[in-house]
Amino acid sequence: MAKRQTRYVCQSCGRITPAYMGKCPKCGEFGTMKEEVMVAETAVTAKNPRALRQPASHPLRLADVTADGFERLALPLAEFARVLGGGIVPGSLVLVGGDPGIGKSTLLLDVAALVANLHGPTLYISGEESARQIKMRADRLGVQAKELFLVTETNLNVMLTHINEVKPVMVIVDSIQTTYVEDKTSSPGSVSQVRECAGRFQELAKTAVSPLSWWDT
Ligand SMILES: [Zn+2]
Repeated sequence: MAKRQTRYVCQSCGRITPAYMGKCPKCGEFGTMKEEVMVAETAVTAKNPRALRQPASHPLRLADVTADGFERLALPLAEFARVLGGGIVPGSLVLVGGDPGIGKSTLLLDVAALVANLHGPTLYISGEESARQIKMRADRLGVQAKELFLVTETNLNVMLTHINEVKPVMVIVDSIQTTYVEDKTSSPGSVSQVRECAGRFQELAKTAVSPLSWWDT
């Protein structure tokens, strides 16, 4: 039987406390501490193939590491490329933030189409829009890209399956707020879910593109 443990996470600042508190000891907000049930690590690993897989990393001699794989992917979208330091760095994870309705999804669809046309398969995962809705938006933008793949998904493990199938050069997840992992009892968009999902994407980004090969294909 898995040992169950409870902790409380502030939905505002992420502070974790072992007992419930009406006021967050860090940010001082009231009523933000939400209960979270943690399943003991052993219970998760037994069912979790991530823990059983072969290590994706292996030590290399400095002399054997080529910098070729870290060349930035060119992007003919000057301002966006400039924000990223001149292009997209393979193996990197970029968080695009901003107020609702300012056009993040539209900008990212545009970026996805450019990358798909220039560099190869690109996967756009939406948690809110159906593929048909995205297609309609793409049509309005005049976006065309043969190598752009669309899927509506919010489950992180299913996303990883799709990523493994498409083997894209870039993945766009819209958004991290709607993404969730099954083995967390907290709801999507909560601090712990966002932290966990971002951590897994970071891990994927680092391991999927090694300095020596692209997607190991
Ligand atoms: Zn707080």
